[in-house]
Amino acid sequence: MNKKAMYQLTYGLFVLTSRLGEKDNGCIINTAGQVTSSPNRISITVNRDNFTHDLVMESRKFNISVLSEEADFKIFQHFGFQSGRTAEKFEGYHACKRSENGLYYITEGTNAYISATVEQTIDLGSHTMFIASVDDMEMLSSAPSASYAYYQSSIKPRPEEKILTGKTVWRCTVCGYVYEGEELPADFVCPLCKHPASDFEKVTS
Ligand code: FE
Repeated sequence: MNKKAMYQLTYGLFVLTSRLGEKDNGCIINTAGQVTSSPNRISITVNRDNFTHDLVMESRKFNISVLSEEADFKIFQHFGFQSGRTAEKFEGYHACKRSENGLYYITEGTNAYISATVEQTIDLGSHTMFIASVDDMEMLSSAPSASYAYYQSSIKPRPEEKILTGKTVWRCTVCGYVYEGEELPADFVCPLCKHPASDFEKVTS
């Protein structure tokens, strides 16, 4: 078995937004896809640790903003590397508008948004899969959608400067965070994206 086969699957990248009462939040997911066309349904799979997960579970409404190749790394930091439990992600954030369902969608670095209502939930342990019917959708730009591979190759910052100094560093393959040191502690957790040491790769000059 070659576990690298999993890397051959392609994924898009999306900002998932929801709203419960007066509370808005959003997070980054890579798991949105159309599952039926008539009626038009999409699925998303969301980690239970995400605050947005709870908003979708309660409100049964969400928007997916499709990230494009013009998306800046800052969008990933803003929606991906902090939690809505401790940060108001939409306070002072202006690159967004409300769609007809009252939820935010992201207007910069995106090429479309889709509004949906949850029909079914599937408990997958660490994650919940939501099957949802599409209520509304609009195009926002003609820029190509950002794939997860494109994010890895062209959006995520590279630690070249640090490698040039001759040091060994460990790079988080998820977000690009760089840990300096010969050995990465086994219990190390990425301070930005919270992924474990197993998601780091050793980079030597
Ligand atoms: Fe990380």
